Amino acid sequence: MSEPAETRPDISVIIPAYNEESVLPLLFARLYTVMDQLGRPYEIVFVDDGSQDRTAQLLQQQFQARPATTRVVILKTNFGQHAAIMAGFSHSRGQYIITLDADLQNPPEEIPNLVAKMDEGFDYVGTIRRKRQDVLWRHVASRAMNRLREKITRIRITDQGCMLRGYHREVILPLLSSRESFTFIPALAYLYAGNTTEIVVEHEERAAGRSKYSLFSLIQLYFDLMTGFSATPLRLFSLTGIGVAMASFCFVVYLTIRRIIVGPEVEGVFTLFAIVFFLIGISLFGMGMMGEYLGRIYHQTKQRPRYLVRTVLEPFPTTPLDHT
Ligand code: UDP
Ligand code: MG
Repeated sequence: MSEPAETRPDISVIIPAYNEESVLPLLFARLYTVMDQLGRPYEIVFVDDGSQDRTAQLLQQQFQARPATTRVVILKTNFGQHAAIMAGFSHSRGQYIITLDADLQNPPEEIPNLVAKMDEGFDYVGTIRRKRQDVLWRHVASRAMNRLREKITRIRITDQGCMLRGYHREVILPLLSSRESFTFIPALAYLYAGNTTEIVVEHEERAAGRSKYSLFSLIQLYFDLMTGFSATPLRLFSLTGIGVAMASFCFVVYLTIRRIIVGPEVEGVFTLFAIVFFLIGISLFGMGMMGEYLGRIYHQTKQRPRYLVRTVLEPFPTTPLDHT
């Protein structure tokens, strides 16, 4: 039996959690206080992304303490932050859907500001961190990636790394039905939004525990962002290829004429090597880049489920919006 429409919450807050036992008690205390004070029907959808620590137990206890406003989706194993958020979307019922990290880097106290913007009619509310509290290399890498993305896609997000965001349900539904295996939710949602805005939010250091992202997993995420939203790199590469081919052609003509007029030469052979190495470098880069796109297609054709659900704790059974 599904629930009647009039008991549906206005607001769903989606929180992926992977080995976050140390931070959850603090999160519960702050988050539920904020949401209770807001005075609107809400639900909090926690997704346990295959944690090996006590995260699932803590979420279960919280569900028992606040069953009316809590849902818990427990995934079978670790599928990654974005897949976990997708699982949360699929089990959410609110009109406004807010994503938040478990680690309290984005203060839950900002949620009312997001809701206020959504009340004004925006269907996508992004956030900009006032003063980002992360290690330096993360700032530098993310700024460079931001700039590159602005150039090659039509996605205009000032601060792509911040997960505290608000989406209208109408933006989330197409997102759930798009069958991309790997995706970057803030960017994909942006494509489906009609009326976007951004607000400035506070950013704090992780309240407890450690970041789940290594340099390698960040690189993967950035590659996904580039290859998932734009074919411009491929096109630029073709253009570079044309340029290099034309230059090489002129060079060959020049060398032939020189050979006829001046005679055979041996000097300058290292310069020639340098040029050849440079060209080999460009070709390898191009092959790697094509490989990135090929890899995307490869994953896509397998059509594997994005995540697998072990259990869902909810006050009454509901049908998830997508079944993968
Ligand atoms: N997370 C997840 N699955 C993962 C990695 C991370 O659900 O495989 C969650 C994590 O518990 C946190 C959020 O995603 O709630 C952001 O992760 P983290 O704070 O480690 O990332 P950072 O802030 O360092 O980018
Ligand atoms: Mg974090």
